[in-house]
Amino acid sequence: MAITRCPKCAKSISDKHKQCPHCGSNISELNDEQVLQLQREQRIKKRQMFMNHSFLALILFLGGFFCLYFLQPQEESLQWYAYTIAIGVGCIWYLINRIILVSLNYLNAYSTVLQQVSGLMARCYQTSKSNKLCN
Ligand SMILES: [Zn+2]
Repeated sequence: MAITRCPKCAKSISDKHKQCPHCGSNISELNDEQVLQLQREQRIKKRQMFMNHSFLALILFLGGFFCLYFLQPQEESLQWYAYTIAIGVGCIWYLINRIILVSLNYLNAYSTVLQQVSGLMARCYQTSKSNKLCN
């Protein structure tokens, strides 16, 4: 029994399941094409979420920066702390999201390469087997 992911809700399930216990979608009815399509949609959704987060972080960072620059609150006043914290949090949050997005890209590229290599190996194996049969 191996653990895979439900192509619809992405929760961990056993590959013996015909139906996802979490979202109830019928996995056995999906063909490879549909599973790939759903995985692609999930990846895009995930990317979109991190993009939104990094956008919000950027707004927080810029907002804090502009307030500090234009309003010029007294140093170590409540506003000054609020803007400084906004800048710090926005900056860190933005960086974290960028790192996640970059690593997501790497993971995608990595799994694509793995799929191609394993497909190639399977084809080589098939050819060598049929060659042996011919001989
Ligand atoms: Zn599910």
